[in-house]
Amino acid sequence: MSAVGKLYFCAKPAIASLASILSNPIEYLKGVGPLRADLLKKELGIFTFGQLLDHFPYRYVDKTTLRTVADILPGSEPVLLSGIVTDIEVSGDKRARRMTAQLRDRSGAVELVWFQGISWVQRSLVPGGSYLAYGRPSFFMGHAQLTHPELEPLQDEGSEPRAFMEPVYPATEKLKARGLTGRSLGKLTQALLGMISEKDIPEILPAVILQEMGLPSRWQAYVDIHFPSSLEARHRAAERLKFEELFVAQLRLGMLRSARHRHSRGLVFQQVGDLFNGFYAHHLPFALTGAQKRVLREIRRDTGGGRQMNRLLQGDVGSGKTMVALLAMLLAADNGFQSCLMAPTEILSQQHLASLTGLLKGLPVQVELLTGSTKAAERRRILAAAADGSLQILIGTHALIEQQVRFAKLGLAIVDEQHRFGVAQRARLWEKSEDTPHVLVMTATPIPRTLAMTAYGDLDYSVMDELPPGRKPIVTVHRIEDRRPQVMEFIREEIAQGRQAYIIFPLIEESDKVDYENLMRGYENVKAWFPEPKYWISMVHGRMKPAQKEENMRRFVANEAQIMVSTTVIEVGVNVPNATVMCIESAEKFGLSQLHQLRGRVGRGSEKSWCILLTSNKVSREAKERLQVLCTTSDGFVVAERDLELRGPGDIEGTRQSGALQFRLADILADRPLLERARDWATQLLDTDPGLTHAAHETLRRYLQAAGAGNAWSRIS
Ligand code: ADP
Ligand code: MG
Repeated sequence: MSAVGKLYFCAKPAIASLASILSNPIEYLKGVGPLRADLLKKELGIFTFGQLLDHFPYRYVDKTTLRTVADILPGSEPVLLSGIVTDIEVSGDKRARRMTAQLRDRSGAVELVWFQGISWVQRSLVPGGSYLAYGRPSFFMGHAQLTHPELEPLQDEGSEPRAFMEPVYPATEKLKARGLTGRSLGKLTQALLGMISEKDIPEILPAVILQEMGLPSRWQAYVDIHFPSSLEARHRAAERLKFEELFVAQLRLGMLRSARHRHSRGLVFQQVGDLFNGFYAHHLPFALTGAQKRVLREIRRDTGGGRQMNRLLQGDVGSGKTMVALLAMLLAADNGFQSCLMAPTEILSQQHLASLTGLLKGLPVQVELLTGSTKAAERRRILAAAADGSLQILIGTHALIEQQVRFAKLGLAIVDEQHRFGVAQRARLWEKSEDTPHVLVMTATPIPRTLAMTAYGDLDYSVMDELPPGRKPIVTVHRIEDRRPQVMEFIREEIAQGRQAYIIFPLIEESDKVDYENLMRGYENVKAWFPEPKYWISMVHGRMKPAQKEENMRRFVANEAQIMVSTTVIEVGVNVPNATVMCIESAEKFGLSQLHQLRGRVGRGSEKSWCILLTSNKVSREAKERLQVLCTTSDGFVVAERDLELRGPGDIEGTRQSGALQFRLADILADRPLLERARDWATQLLDTDPGLTHAAHETLRRYLQAAGAGNAWSRIS
């Protein structure tokens, strides 16, 4: 691993990373001790003083403002009242006992009600005594009530309105059983804050940022997030801490990116040679789109400049990424380097092989395919050709990252449809050859810009936002089950005109028995609508043997079968331009971006295409709303944005495992404006002081280094 790989990445910066009293073990905090310490470690992951400070409240009890009975309105937040308790009464029988009392202040009276713990309350309550009462008001027959209020005798010390809101922390049942409740955790935090001072939580943000953004200091923010004097103070504290999280994350990504640019020795693709030029002049079946040309120029610049390329290429479905990949691989071959192209499914890699060998016919380029089902002898031959450098292009599935695969001179590694691969899997590709190859990651799942800048901020980033000319838009409609006859009739008409259709069934987990049975039933059903020998149907699903899948796929590609019944294995990459209908059964069960991917299987030729989303009439409003998004737009980036809004970032494909989107306070959806500002500030800072060597950035640099220990992130996201 290069120096860059050792750089730090951690999406959850922690306060304790600067050595101080805050790194003391939690058992040494007064009121904790060994037993509770054990629980805090196991249940909340709190090992040190600092980690306790990093355990934030999720709500507050606001006893800062004294209200009067007359202030209480229906729907009020909990209120703090002060008054005299009178009229204590117990009623009801043993089973349903009830105790009431009146709390009177100058403005009126409110009823206090208890259903439980009555004898205890009765014993401790002094009739005619003055009390502070706190609770959420409810209204019963027009009268305000506080049920099970918190009461404190007024003469006691500290029974005035509080200067701070009381924090309530996330706690588990096990903690509560040991007396560590959501509220008592606050006592520990309070004690801890009493022991430390501003110097223990030094500022890490540059003064100019604090000033321009009007943010409180780090110390103030920590005090206020735990014990705010008002909601306003809590808001400012949260804003500051969120900004810090986002800023630090952006800074790390920016440093990774620039360190890679500075340090990594890239293989140099010096020349555009005969293969590239010959192919371009004589074999290219169409003119490249502007976007394709632009991306190729970017790749050429990256690979020719002496630094290692690490580029994420986002191109909507059908934008022609395969051609870009091929041309990039020819460029590598022209410079004596091998390339590999990794695809997520067997079908897709087979299809890549077929289209690449077709395009390269007559050119001196050896292309091979390696998958899990490659036969032993064939496999040996291919491995030998990769190792001795005689093959130029190796296409394959996960099989490519197996141990035995070695290249003589791997210059370019391309990952297609990137979201199916985990971070670690990708990283293994880069170690297949002596020198780190250039890397191109291609995805058809558009990721909203904000997400991309968070999850993949250390990669260079290209977008292909242009479809090849002559594509007719795809008409997308939502149809209810009872219109099935019309839908099937429509598919027949299309087939009568020589076109083909996909019918997709949800099989989210290939092992799911119910889904599998539905698929089989669905297949029989389709067969009944489209009987042999007039029609032929192909079927592909994950439980089939690879050879069987391949044969079914081949028949559909060759138009020997007019209909392809399939699960989502067809989702990525498959290219049959003659198919004009994509019919998706139980469409509500799919994610938006998955539906967009499926839809992208049609509209690849010059004929008008349709995408039909079938559901029963019982789907929820939300589901209808989601499907409506697809009916109104065909722009993958718009779909992705809406998907993000509807589902939240936790679910975006391909980002879950990266952990890069999880922040303690910040929510990259709700806090997008803050994220943008964090990004801008981070960029600006790194532009002026790339190594953070200025004195003003000293604490920040030390913080980043300390927080990074043990959190090394692979050099590619
Ligand atoms: P994706 O970006 O989804 O992987 P593909 O590479 O499969 O898209 O390309 C989709 C289709 O568009 C293929 O049939 C391909 O041959 C065709 N295509 C690619 N580039 C162009 C172009 N510049 N002009 C016309 N057709 C193109
Ligand atoms: Mg593709």
